Amino acid sequence: MSDSVWIEELERVGALLRGHFQLTTGRHSATFFLLARLTERPWVLARWAQELARQVTAVGPVSTVVGPAMGGVIPAYAVAQEMRGVRALFAEKEDGGMVFRRGFALEPGEPVAVVEDVVTTGSSVGQVMQAVEASGAVVRVVAALVNRTGGDSLGTVPLLSVVHLQAPSWPADACPLCAGDLPLVRPKAARRETAGPR
Ligand SMILES: [Zn+2]
Repeated sequence: MSDSVWIEELERVGALLRGHFQLTTGRHSATFFLLARLTERPWVLARWAQELARQVTAVGPVSTVVGPAMGGVIPAYAVAQEMRGVRALFAEKEDGGMVFRRGFALEPGEPVAVVEDVVTTGSSVGQVMQAVEASGAVVRVVAALVNRTGGDSLGTVPLLSVVHLQAPSWPADACPLCAGDLPLVRPKAARRETAGPR
């Protein structure tokens, strides 16, 4: 499938919103991602996970997939499920970094894929990579449902994705949308009243 087909699917399930948004950083943007609208639909997410699993497998064997909590937990599990005998772990925030709890452990030298829902700056993924490397395991590849970085690597590690989608944002006092009729909304502050399309 082309990028546009995947992007249409994100819009259809409400994982990609178009409008005039205030981001958590305070910047304004015409697009907003809510990947939970995708991961809450396992029957849709499965196709995305199959595509990422195919790409990860093409790079080389991994024995474990690791996702950052919370956004990466479900995608990591879904991708591992498409790869025979591959474990799915997650790392959690602690003291400004990411750590493994719950008895999760990696073997020295074990090849790992880090899987995330959307990579924008790569900071969460970078913290997971540090946690993996601290255990002696090796991050072979990073894979995301949506890649917003504009690049195809994080340091020396390949960054795979189902779609590339860069969305410009502006400081609030330099936002071109503020001059128009579109009301400014803060999507994450809103509680949804309806379940939306299936
Ligand atoms: Zn604005």
